Amino acid sequence: MKKLLFLAASAALINGCIYGTVQDANTGSGVYQAKVSVIKGNCSGNGCNFPEGTDNSGMYVFDAYGDTNGSANTKFITPASGEEAVTFRVSKPGYQSRTFYHKPDYQKITYSGKTYYVSDAPVVYLCPYGSPDSDGDTICNSAETRYGTDPYDSDTDDDRLSDAAEIFGYNGVDIRYYGADPLRKTVLIEADYYQAFKPDQAALDQVIQAFADAPVSNPDGSTGITLAIHLDDKVSSADVDPDLNPVWSDFDIIKNKYFESRRDDLFHYALFADQILGATYSGISRGIPAHDFVVSLGAWPTPGGTTQQQAGTLMHEFGHNLGLKHGGNDHINNEINYLSVMNYNYQMPGLTVNGNAGVVDFSRLRINAVGSTINEYAAFSGYGGTTEADLADYSVRYGGVWLSGTASSNLDVNNNGSLQSSVPVTAANASQHDWENITFAGGGTIGDGWLGASAMFANGILQAQAEPEYMVQPCLTPEHQ
Ligand SMILES: [Zn+2]
Repeated sequence: MKKLLFLAASAALINGCIYGTVQDANTGSGVYQAKVSVIKGNCSGNGCNFPEGTDNSGMYVFDAYGDTNGSANTKFITPASGEEAVTFRVSKPGYQSRTFYHKPDYQKITYSGKTYYVSDAPVVYLCPYGSPDSDGDTICNSAETRYGTDPYDSDTDDDRLSDAAEIFGYNGVDIRYYGADPLRKTVLIEADYYQAFKPDQAALDQVIQAFADAPVSNPDGSTGITLAIHLDDKVSSADVDPDLNPVWSDFDIIKNKYFESRRDDLFHYALFADQILGATYSGISRGIPAHDFVVSLGAWPTPGGTTQQQAGTLMHEFGHNLGLKHGGNDHINNEINYLSVMNYNYQMPGLTVNGNAGVVDFSRLRINAVGSTINEYAAFSGYGGTTEADLADYSVRYGGVWLSGTASSNLDVNNNGSLQSSVPVTAANASQHDWENITFAGGGTIGDGWLGASAMFANGILQAQAEPEYMVQPCLTPEHQ
């Protein structure tokens, strides 16, 4: 909304392709005659041999249309060959220079009957020399105040992407382009695929929506997590390996060719492949937590999986990347009181919530332990804020069968068509609220170099050391055990 208003108000000034503003971090005023240079990128046009300068409002325009700077000074800027963003540097005597990475995201605007395509670079609050930067994230304290970020925490939203990386990009990658925001949790996946097993956009969208709906709060007051899935490279037919076996050495041959190492600290990597280990395993994560995972539904009855199976498996394997186990907080699979796509009972069909089938979600309930018998009339009980009303929303699938009743009551656990006050059941531990227990560090693999020392230990690193590479067995599913 803010962006649209800005465009509407400024349309008279904006005729170019990439524009932005430079403001003084201390005063908030526009910085006049700051120099904005293309450090890495291609420029075509007549005015490419000099940098842009800001006007007295702090605005600069790399003008592809020749309207603002005159037709003799057009500049059309694109990423250099092999790069995914343009590297810019903003400088002015008396200030610390600022480098940022911008992947143009052109918005179409019409002004005076002419059509323009413009892309807004991040606002740069330039820090006067000597400005303190308490958290060492390269953004001075006064600039952090203007961005709304915490000057004493390099990762205000605790997603392992530093405030600076979420505003300015990092290592040649513009994660702001993919929706990163320093005040809202963001997770990024690059997904590459074999042509025959390219995931359905509807499956990706289902998982993206599940994260958007997550019961997780953010510093900006919103709830949910921004999940960006960059469906990127089709693996060429020459590089398709129909059976990743052994998984990770074969996987790495593809990853090394198709996943740019500059993204290592920022993006998880997923491969939609055919088969692994010569069998019909649905997928595998490279540990819990981890950076990489495979979805391998090639030999399933619907080759590549149905949309539902793709969504459930993507969410399940990525859940392992985020630290979730088959029992949430334990490795026991098929626990009757754990309602999550991490449980094989729900990976493929999804959860049924309020009668809606096919819901892909992690557990948002806390359910007490179940002993060796259960009262079918009473079913489960919650703790830590989970109410009977919450439980009543959920159907229960156990041993591959949907049971009548709900997680709250009248649950026909032994599926015999009647209710009893005591039936035997496999005991299960108390289940966790998954969303409050996911880790963003990917076992120490996710996290950029602008995170301060305090953030290095805040989220996931120590846990990762305690439990590396556990998930070496593939994810079997009930249908294929
Ligand atoms: Zn699994």
